[in-house]
Amino acid sequence: MRKNAKFSFKKTKFLKKMIIIFLILILNYMNLGFMPLEKAHSYFNINSLITQFYTSYQQEDWQKSIDLLMEIANKDFNSFILQGEEANLVQNNFRDVYFNNIKTIQEKSLEKALKYLDKYYKFYKYDNVINNLKKEIEYGILDKTLVDYTGEITHFFTHCLIAYPNLAFDEKNPYKDTYDKDCITINEFNSILDELYANDYVLIDIENTYSQETGSINKLRLPKNKKPLIFSFDDVVYDQKKIHTGLVDKLVLDDKNEIATYTSNNPDEEQIIYDNEFLTILENFIKQHPDFSFLNAKGIICLTGFTGILGYRTQSKSGDRNTQISKVTKLINRLKELNWKFACHSYGHYHMEKMTLDDFKKDTDDWLNEVATLIGDTTIYAYPYGEWDKNENAKQNYLKEKGFNLFFGVGINNYFNKIHGNLVMDRKPLDGYSLRKRQNEYKKYFDCEKIYDHENRAIPYKETSYFL
Ligand SMILES: [Zn+2]
Repeated sequence: MRKNAKFSFKKTKFLKKMIIIFLILILNYMNLGFMPLEKAHSYFNINSLITQFYTSYQQEDWQKSIDLLMEIANKDFNSFILQGEEANLVQNNFRDVYFNNIKTIQEKSLEKALKYLDKYYKFYKYDNVINNLKKEIEYGILDKTLVDYTGEITHFFTHCLIAYPNLAFDEKNPYKDTYDKDCITINEFNSILDELYANDYVLIDIENTYSQETGSINKLRLPKNKKPLIFSFDDVVYDQKKIHTGLVDKLVLDDKNEIATYTSNNPDEEQIIYDNEFLTILENFIKQHPDFSFLNAKGIICLTGFTGILGYRTQSKSGDRNTQISKVTKLINRLKELNWKFACHSYGHYHMEKMTLDDFKKDTDDWLNEVATLIGDTTIYAYPYGEWDKNENAKQNYLKEKGFNLFFGVGINNYFNKIHGNLVMDRKPLDGYSLRKRQNEYKKYFDCEKIYDHENRAIPYKETSYFL
């Protein structure tokens, strides 16, 4: 008996195999191509899913329809494509169900809401409402790990980096003292980032610190044990007058939409470099250390306008204005995408106190007409030389009238306060002079002597305290 049972079992298995082979042959005959065993199974499976899909589609059960579509797509993408028109309709109809479901789950559990949101996100990644909801939920989850921060906010600023120290500090370079006094080198910037990161500083977005509408200071919440840091970069004009004296020529976008610098110190040599300016260096640093940037914070670029911006001659007096504008617009869009922020640093970079009210108004209007039109609105004004007019309010009032409500000064102490009704934040300079003179004040951030580019700078570190 036992033997017989075994035999008949084997026989059934054999018959099953024969039936499958027979089916495969029929499929082959039907011009469906030869299918391996596994594929034949999945073919029938997909057909049954497609049948189920059409049933739920007719019943307008959008949740079930989209789930079935996803299952079909996972098994065989070609079959998914076949449902093209219906797939679009399902996506459109499911959208409101999706949104309402996320909202309902969000009330009970943010984590579950995010999981549900992520499941269908690929269909709605260009939908602004869904994107904002995703950010809100993600921030809600993150917020549980954050702590209130009430301490001071450190704000450093510098200018374009000295990319070519041999040229910058050359005896014959008429700008050598300016570069020494106002700028830092690539080596110095790299070391500063390393030290600030090691000391638990984290970049924060200036726009999260205050309300752009009212100008009031926001309460900060940060990852535990992190200290807030803001970086801004002034001028970033790459003045034609100073070309080939130590800075790069301009910022550019490569064909992969990556930011680089372009320099042509010798007529027959054009250099595209990815790590010789603050912007690319900071981007790379954040890629390597994502926790150095809180909520994708980057820096603020404070622009003048008298000879264009970012190395492009976009000023009204430029002969090549329109071409330059079309080139710089692509770069600006990319910078905004990367979350860089812009501020006004006046049009002509004059001393505010020495200007007449009319000249000051014209300077501000020129900036709004020639720079704001390229970079978009900003509510931040960085005073040239960190100076504002203490004798009269009219200039300040004009800036407020034009929508500016946060003002950057220059100073060694951190502050972020309302001064005579203006929200003002002081910034600490990073340059050769400060590195030599502010060793004590900067001690908690980094060791200035260690940072100092002894190899490239013309002025030795120690000597300076006697004659500068
Ligand atoms: Zn400046």
